[in-house]
Amino acid sequence: MQALAIYLGPLGVLWGIFLARAKFAERRSLRIKAEAVAAGLTEPASLHPKIDPSLCIGCATCISACPEGKILGLVNGKAELLEPSHCIGHGACATSCPMHSIELVFGTEKRGVDIPHVGPDFQSNVPGIYIAGELGGMGLIRNAIEQGRQAMGQIAKAAPSRAGPPLDVVVVGAGPAGISASLAAMKAGLRLITIEQDSFGGTVAHFPRGKLVMTAPAELPLYGQVNLRETSKEDLLAFWEQVKNNTGLKITYEERVEKIEREGAAFRVATTRGSHLTGAVLLAIGRRGTPRMLGVPGEDQEKVVYRLIDPEQYRNRAVLVVGGGDSALEAATSIASEPGTTVTLSYRGDGFSRAKLKNRDRVSEMEKTNRLRVMLQSEVLQIEPKQVTIEFAGKTESIANDAVIVCAGGILPTPFLKSAGINIETKYGTA
Ligand SMILES: Cc1cc2nc3c(=O)[nH]c(=O)nc-3n(C[C@H](O)[C@H](O)[C@H](O)COP(=O)(O)OP(=O)(O)OC[C@H]3O[C@@H](n4cnc5c(N)ncnc54)[C@H](O)[C@@H]3O)c2cc1C
Repeated sequence: MQALAIYLGPLGVLWGIFLARAKFAERRSLRIKAEAVAAGLTEPASLHPKIDPSLCIGCATCISACPEGKILGLVNGKAELLEPSHCIGHGACATSCPMHSIELVFGTEKRGVDIPHVGPDFQSNVPGIYIAGELGGMGLIRNAIEQGRQAMGQIAKAAPSRAGPPLDVVVVGAGPAGISASLAAMKAGLRLITIEQDSFGGTVAHFPRGKLVMTAPAELPLYGQVNLRETSKEDLLAFWEQVKNNTGLKITYEERVEKIEREGAAFRVATTRGSHLTGAVLLAIGRRGTPRMLGVPGEDQEKVVYRLIDPEQYRNRAVLVVGGGDSALEAATSIASEPGTTVTLSYRGDGFSRAKLKNRDRVSEMEKTNRLRVMLQSEVLQIEPKQVTIEFAGKTESIANDAVIVCAGGILPTPFLKSAGINIETKYGTA
């Protein structure tokens, strides 16, 4: 009996520690989940795990496998997606699950995700319009690089001889898919232009500063094997820059493709700067869309941007942030933490219910200490070089201003794709 107690004692202690840790982890999971629900961050953007609770044994392998951190957690002993909106579809959870209880799907029962029709040769249902990268549904940098290269291989195969339109292909988007496709087009000797509405690097350029980027080796035309696995946003962008300089890749920036129409056997690609006649189009535009603009006079000035890159650049400046979601609140509070800044946060809604509690708390704290001025139910009327005019509390007010950051969400690419004749399937939680 005494001998049994010698063994059972430590086992009991270990079991107690295990239960306490499990309880702590579950409390943390419930807190993260409640915050995501309160902030309305319950819908995944694209590919994400669907967990079958009847198969899940709560081993937490999927939680450790996720490269994005706290996205999955255990609730009642079963794995759950706690922060669906932050899932980027690595799929490592599904691969790691020993019980095969995870399936990767698009959309949910409540919210459909639009996936354009893409054939095995990367061609859409419109012959001559091809799709590569995240737009086709498959996320991740490595997949985008691979698909861009392969799609351009198909375009090169189908490209007619030199007679015909002045361009063989227009590549739309300069993210990983567009970069890789453009290099493949150069390698194949095609006449091309690459058009980017924003700046080089695609969604990667919008990652938070210092973000750890997990990727896998891929083959990049004119460069060879890219052996990146774990890197940072900054290093990855520096790598793309180096590739661009070494290969002579040319991209036109700040030009947005707005329409694609047939013109005889070719396509007329209409952009914000003009139009291009081409034999084929490769859409590598991702799924994040085009930043929503305010549509007010003066918005075309250089001081107006649609994302925050580095709060330090706004030191000693008067900044207006427009928007009511997490990105607006994070931009406003991080700039307000920099020395010498005067920050105003303007939002047309009557509260920040769409944002995370942590961000809302930070805004309230900074507002109380006069580090930040909040103008709810306000509307920006005009942006001038040294001031902005805002309608607030029934009055029109002009405030000194050096920079404007608009965080008003994005316009998804679906209407643009439909106008080009591309069929879209809306998926509600299916593969
Ligand atoms: C927060 C976050 C973290 C992530 N972390 C990782 C990670 O660690 N590892 C990983 O592998 N993946 C990660 N991803 C996913 C990865 O960024 C994407 O899968 C990848 O960038 C897709 O590449 P793409 O070329 O298809 O599209 P994008 O990178 O989205 O590029 C599309 C480009 O097209 C441009 N464009 C759009 N519309 C137009 C138009 N009409 N005219 C002209 N240009 C247009 C856009 O401005 C953009 O530059 C993450 C995503 C997010 C949001």
